[in-house]
Amino acid sequence: MSNSRRGFFRELASAVASAKDVIEPAAPRAPAPPPDLTEAEIERYARQLVLPEWGAAAQLAVSEASVLVIGAGALGAPVALYLAGAGVGRIGILDDDAVDLSDLQRQLLHFTPDLGVPKAESAAAKLRYLNPDIVVEPYQARAEAANAPALVEGQDLVVDCSGSFATRYVVNAACCAARVPLVEAGVLGMAGLVMSIKPGRTACYRCAFPVEPPDAPRGDDTGVLGPAAGVIGSLQALEALKLLTGVAPAIADGFLQVDLATSEFLRVHADRRPDCPDCG
Ligand SMILES: [Zn+2]
Repeated sequence: MSNSRRGFFRELASAVASAKDVIEPAAPRAPAPPPDLTEAEIERYARQLVLPEWGAAAQLAVSEASVLVIGAGALGAPVALYLAGAGVGRIGILDDDAVDLSDLQRQLLHFTPDLGVPKAESAAAKLRYLNPDIVVEPYQARAEAANAPALVEGQDLVVDCSGSFATRYVVNAACCAARVPLVEAGVLGMAGLVMSIKPGRTACYRCAFPVEPPDAPRGDDTGVLGPAAGVIGSLQALEALKLLTGVAPAIADGFLQVDLATSEFLRVHADRRPDCPDCG
């Protein structure tokens, strides 16, 4: 990076810090330390640091965040790749499955030489190649009622890429109980949905979907086009970055329904339910 370009980002970071002081002058606390980015970090994250809504403050927020990605499959791949690329400081990736030949069509973290390798390990290896400055922790396990509270405890955010109604309900309940923000999603064929949840403040997954549809399709015996999963997973990653930094409003109190066959995006509103067993 040229000195002038580096200087530009330094000035930008300082301008962001000054602007923040102007917006929040009355906070009775010690001033936040100045963003302490290395030259390599300034270069690695240059294309997001230059965004006026991102800047050094958001970079610091993601670098200090701990995020659990549940599932290293078709949705988990774009989610984990984008979060690692953006510099999320600690990424846990949870999956109890091994890479199968039929996964490679859409699960972009796994390659042909990975066949038979645990997905959590295969994913972690790629994420470490992408960004060696972050901590990646693979967990070869499945999120269930018994372990979900311990899994989400201490996380700043959970992104559920499991693709299973049962897991979504378990993860939603655990995140609501622990007050950990959550991004939910599902994809099927050429359609999907994305929903952000701020427990206790916005509708949770069970508020929006109180019961599993009796004829709900199962991921293993239904089809999905790779790019459709890529779109939904990318939207999940974007929601995660919004929740971690506050740079833009998340898709809360409802969900975004995406039909990629007709290219239609629809915001569907959902209210919190006072009788919700998870967040009520
Ligand atoms: Zn709820």
